[in-house]
Formats: sequence, structure tokens, C-alpha cells
Amino acid sequence: MESFDIRDQQPRTDTDKEYENALRPLSFLDFNGQSKVVENLSVFVSAARMRGESLDHVLLHGPPGLGKTTLSNIIANELGVGFKITSGPVLDKPGDLAGLLTSLEPNDVLFIDEIHRLSPIVEEYLYSAMEDFRIDIMIDKGPSARSIQLTLNPFTLIGATTRSGLLTSPLRARFGINCHLEYYDDSILRSIILRSAKILNIPCTHEAAGEIASRSRGTPRIANALLRRVRDFAQVKGNGTIDHNIACFSLEALNIDKYGLDEVDNKILTTLIDKFQGGPVGLSTIATALGEDSGTLEEVYEPFLIKEGFLKRTPRGREVTPLAYKHLGRTKPDEQGKLF
Ligand code: ADP
Repeated sequence: MESFDIRDQQPRTDTDKEYENALRPLSFLDFNGQSKVVENLSVFVSAARMRGESLDHVLLHGPPGLGKTTLSNIIANELGVGFKITSGPVLDKPGDLAGLLTSLEPNDVLFIDEIHRLSPIVEEYLYSAMEDFRIDIMIDKGPSARSIQLTLNPFTLIGATTRSGLLTSPLRARFGINCHLEYYDDSILRSIILRSAKILNIPCTHEAAGEIASRSRGTPRIANALLRRVRDFAQVKGNGTIDHNIACFSLEALNIDKYGLDEVDNKILTTLIDKFQGGPVGLSTIATALGEDSGTLEEVYEPFLIKEGFLKRTPRGREVTPLAYKHLGRTKPDEQGKLF
């Protein structure tokens, strides 16, 4: 059977998006996990509301699918203001950004996803908007062209990025609030799955939700995507209820790794073992061997492998742990067998 790439569960079609939106929590109370971040954000939001001011600009960073868009939406809801959404690669020209900025009502939230992918010229344009709520726009063409300054309504920019290392320091410095989202524990993912099952009206046992959670790579988006697939199995092969048996059967059929590791995760570990005797080896060497960007490896893939204890960072480079050998069914060569 074809393998099912869980990381590939980005919302693509309208149905995927509808599915994600239906499951998106709308208030801080509904949002599970990330307690420190949520606690702080709710204080800042209440303070801004009390003063009737716009919230300071917020930078949310962390791997994909952990709730950056969801949290931004919640912030706008809790502030009781409008929410506009765009993304770095879409904002081609300063004019695109100017159009968006001038359409904002006082204290609205503008969400820019993948903010590390803004073009330098748009990014520079954003600086004065963020700092003084002012932008320069060009009017007329040719010899009579001139620039005029427009004052904007105060607004909150929320930038989301999976690659905070790629942000320039002037941009980073303009965010007053900076939050890092962490991978979720299985118990929190289990409550997210149970909540989603309830919204979708699918009976799901705690045990089954726990099984799906443990294979979700610490990521709510993956948890919800797996729940959707398991629901199909429960309806076709079972009696419509997701119990432990049907959950295990479906996850097995979908080739989901016991730890939720995806193809790239496994490739990183096998490359380290097969080509570099398990390490230690430098990040850029691994990246070259895998044909991946070293920043993406470091910020998107590595944190989960380290958190789960498959990989460790040492002063001499990355090294796989005995758990990785065990997981891949390999035996660790003894010290003498090593080439270096
Ligand atoms: P990101 O913007 O970080 O890629 P999203 O905010 O789009 O992630 O979240 C992906 C999906 O996961 C959404 O459908 C959302 O409902 C769900 N989700 C994310 N975080 C949580 C959470 N803490 N509680 C419940 N559902 C969540």
C-alpha cells in the first residue's frame, strides 16, 4: 500500500480548508496547550482592550501546524476587532501592502503568514507602517510623480514564521511581543482530537484518541488530519465508532509510524546511520546529503527528533541516539567498528 505522508497534510483544497476552519478554536479558552504563550497573550490583549489601544505587534514562530493562524484569529476575536490575512510570498509589491494597510479599521489585526518570505522592498515598506502607522505612496506618473504620506489607523501586525532564523533584525526588532510555539504533548493532542471528534459528531474513545495523538508528531494539524482518515475507516470497516482497534487498524493501513515520524524524519535518521555511522556530523553535511536546506532541517525537522530523543546536538555535530537505532531496527556498531 502507498505510504501516507502525514506532513503532507497542509490544507490544499477548499474541503480541507473548510475542515480546518470548522475545527479552529475561536477563543483562548478553547485553545488547548501552549499555556505560557496563551497566558501572556491574554494579559496583553486585556490590557490593550482596557486602554482602547491597538495591541503591540506580535511575532509567532514555530513549526507548521501548531496553531499560529488559529492564535492570531483568536487574538482578533478577543480584541473584538477585524482580521485580515495574507502571506509573505503573496505580497509582491509595496502597492499590494498599501492597499491592505489602508483598508484596516482602527486596532484591526493584519496577519502575515510566512513573513520570512516577504520581499526586501515590501519589508522595508512595512517598517514605517509598523512604527509610526504611516506609509508613503506614489501618486501620478512621469514628471509629475510625487510621493505623499498617508496616516494609517493604528493596527496590530501578527507575523507568523516557521523559520525565525531568516527574519532580518530590523523586522524582528519591530515586534513588541515574541512567542515561540512548542510541539504538543500527547495528552493535550488527545483532548484536541476528542474536541474535534465532538464537533464532527464522531464517537471516539479516549484510548483511540490517545493512539492517534501518539502518532501525530506533536502537531494538531496532523492529529486532525489523521482523525479524518480514521473516521473513514471507522465508517467503512467498522461500526462508525472510533475505538482502539479501528484506530490501530487504520493507522497501520496508512503506514503511520508508531512515533508519528514522517518520511523526512526517517530519512534524516537513516542517512546519519548509513552514511555517517550515526554521527556526530555537522548540520550542513547532513543537509547536503539529504538535498535539504540546512535552516529548514534545523528549525522545522530537528526540534521534534530532539524532543522525542532520536537525535542529539553535541559540540561536534548531530548524533543519533540508541532509540533511533532501535526504532529503525538497526544495531549500533560498537566503538571499534566505527570508522572515526
Ligand atoms: P499554523 O498556522 O501554525 O500552521 P494552524 O493555526 O493553521 O497552524 O492550525 C492547524 C490546525 O490545527 C487548525 O485546524 C486548528 O484548528 C488546529 N489547532 C492548532 N492548534 C490547536 C489547539 N491548540 N487546539 C485545538 N486545535 C488546534
